[in-house]
Amino acid sequence: MRPLRIWKKLLGIERAVIEQVELEQGGALVVSVRPNARERGRCPHCRRRCPGYDWGEGRRRGRALDLGTNFGFLEAEAPRVACRRQGVLVAAVPWARHDSNFTRAFQEQVAWLTLNTSKSAVCELMRIAWRRVGWICARVLAEQTAKRDLCAALRPIGFHEISIRKGQRYLTVVVDHDSGRLVWAHPGRDRKTVERFLELLSKQRCAQIKLVSCDDAEWITRPLSQRCGNAVICLDAFHIVKAATDALDEIRRQVWNEARKAGQTQLARELKGARFALCKNPGNLSERQQLTLARIQQLNQRLYRAYLLAQQLREIYRVPTGHALALLEAWLKWARRSRLQPFLKLARRITEQRARVEAAITNKLSNARLQQLNTQLRLITRRGFGYHSPWAVIALAMLSLSGLCPPLPS
Ligand SMILES: [Zn+2]
Repeated sequence: MRPLRIWKKLLGIERAVIEQVELEQGGALVVSVRPNARERGRCPHCRRRCPGYDWGEGRRRGRALDLGTNFGFLEAEAPRVACRRQGVLVAAVPWARHDSNFTRAFQEQVAWLTLNTSKSAVCELMRIAWRRVGWICARVLAEQTAKRDLCAALRPIGFHEISIRKGQRYLTVVVDHDSGRLVWAHPGRDRKTVERFLELLSKQRCAQIKLVSCDDAEWITRPLSQRCGNAVICLDAFHIVKAATDALDEIRRQVWNEARKAGQTQLARELKGARFALCKNPGNLSERQQLTLARIQQLNQRLYRAYLLAQQLREIYRVPTGHALALLEAWLKWARRSRLQPFLKLARRITEQRARVEAAITNKLSNARLQQLNTQLRLITRRGFGYHSPWAVIALAMLSLSGLCPPLPS
């Protein structure tokens, strides 16, 4: 094989001609390259061949995958073309995405590593800043979503909101319940965001949707019932269980405050550390947490009653359907008599939304899966706290939870 062809193979470059290879003084390998005759003078968006416009801003250099321990760069002319539709643009090159200083292979490796290793491993191995990683993932995602239609056959879907940057900003995400995959994510949690998704779906696809699980907030339910006429709206277990946990925690805080004011320092101290013991599944409690619970049962009946109420509500989503509906009825009666204000409020909310709560039970929407997805999303968004743009966080979430991540190059 001729030396230049070996370089082509080594660098994984296709549809291009290598002109020259040079090792610079600092140790960087610079490969001069040009698109082959078929690829020359094409528009980066529509891929059509266009008349040349000018030579642009001269030669451009972009990062390629490292060669051994040396930095690799591709260098090429960047002429501009005049596309009839998109106007004057830098011509497309086969080795890199439009307007990017990294080769395709480099970007794909970064995306793969981001999902499979730690933040510091990606940055150190690829020798780029974490902020750049977010930008690269967004580019890779944009190309992948253009290639694949994630919303083709949606029947049961779920709307979810998730906070990024510690509760200051929110994302609305849509999950396909059949596959458990993320199909859409957008910054914001308001009616406009929901409508944006439904518009994207088109009328025909909206009509195909049979089941939607979501929070009972009006900004979600109103546009959904307007546009998805065939869909049953469910208030999923995740939101109900979360509301019960919040109600329980409210009572714990009340009791704790009362204990503090009454000078019961021992009780106050125990209650402060009891949060996890109260919220956890009884089966997963550590010995110390079991002890804490037993102490609460002894010391404060009110809090213990709240604990039992919250646990019982969770149980509804674990038992068979027929049994669950009876259990729900019993729970509502119990909660109404409980004299615990937060649970009275929750009982009222469930009564108002009863049909939607029961729809989630009868349609067997799995809470475990939603919970798992929520945990994964939370982990991903925490990694993305360093990003200023919500789109970088969305790219991380979509690439890892929608099966869109490209494989490692070749
Ligand atoms: Zn074009």
